[in-house]
Amino acid sequence: MTAISLDRLRTRIEALARFGALPGGGVTRSAWSPAHEEARAWLVDDMRTAGLEPWIDAAGNVFGGLGMRAFDAARPAVVTGSHIDTVPEGGILDGALGVLAGLEALHVIRETGAGHGRPLAVAAWSDEEGRYASLFGSRAFCGKLDAAHIPEMAAADGERLVDAMAGAGFDALRAPEARAPAGSVGAYVELHIEQGPRLEEAGIPIGVVEAIVGVRRTRVIFIGQADHAGTTPMERRRDGFLAAAEFALKARDLVVKRGSGRSVTNFGVVHVHPGVTNIVPARGELIHEMREPDPAVLDRLARECSALAKRVAKRRQVQVEFRPLSATTPAPCAPRVQAVIEEAAATLGLPTQRMHSAAGHDAQNLAAITDAGMIFIPSKGGRSHRVDEMSDWDAIERGANVLLHTLIALAS
Ligand SMILES: [Zn+2]
Repeated sequence: MTAISLDRLRTRIEALARFGALPGGGVTRSAWSPAHEEARAWLVDDMRTAGLEPWIDAAGNVFGGLGMRAFDAARPAVVTGSHIDTVPEGGILDGALGVLAGLEALHVIRETGAGHGRPLAVAAWSDEEGRYASLFGSRAFCGKLDAAHIPEMAAADGERLVDAMAGAGFDALRAPEARAPAGSVGAYVELHIEQGPRLEEAGIPIGVVEAIVGVRRTRVIFIGQADHAGTTPMERRRDGFLAAAEFALKARDLVVKRGSGRSVTNFGVVHVHPGVTNIVPARGELIHEMREPDPAVLDRLARECSALAKRVAKRRQVQVEFRPLSATTPAPCAPRVQAVIEEAAATLGLPTQRMHSAAGHDAQNLAAITDAGMIFIPSKGGRSHRVDEMSDWDAIERGANVLLHTLIALAS
């Protein structure tokens, strides 16, 4: 049976891991950084070595085509890929696996002449991790990039996207030109590490993703009254922080009890104003994040949480304001692609488990323009977004072979 070369894939993964490598292991390779741009140049070379036709679009996405040099609605392509940027102090597999296993799969398809009626391409989508704008490249490709917002896109440290892209030789304002012609992508499948513990704990080698969670982030601001922290009687205080704290605890319970069982929530940013010991806090500000794969459940939880915040505010005699920060819609994976992945795994004798992705991925954007799916492999200890992120090499080989056979089936 046609199979990928683990030696060659491992050599590729280890080669890419050198760009932005950290002394103690792991890698920092932010989009548009010098390490990232060196990695991009290496990737383009490696695509050529594999016999693919490389090109780079206006959003900085890198493609390697097999039987294609551009996207064309007359010949819809089967596309795979992921990303080569990383979080700061990240691991060597997040994103890299999907790009390099896709490259290896296309390399094998070219060498063996495995029947492919449709053109194929492997993609490395730019700034998936969102140093400047999350899922930037796939958003541009799928026509979801609002040109008006590009000038204000910036990193947490204030560096603007337009400057970062200019430094790498790109004009950010032209990124929307990366939009693919309608109908030019026939299917998309992405191999990725799970980044969580579920597959490893279940002893299942292959996860078939049913849906990618939607993520909603809202700034919730409780506005009370600053007062002397010694002389103001307790019952007269209108404490913005305590309202925020009560809301955080109750919202956590609400999401656990009234969610789908897959719903999660987090309060990762908290600000107290004025933030001194002898003043009752006038303001308590939180960023509330929720993730859930079912759009109806996510909508309901969002409504229930804002009603909860209003009740807490009323009882504590403070005001509450909501500022929506971002909202992605949960993305269902195509039943057709899930079935093809399961067949490919069955052919290889590998058990599968259907699951949702609790992390965002480029596939969620592709799902809006084509039949999209994802293949997960186990992450050791469920560890990811850290330097010791890893998967067993035989798990990597299994995942890459399922990807290979899925691509062959989708392209035939
Ligand atoms: Zn990733």
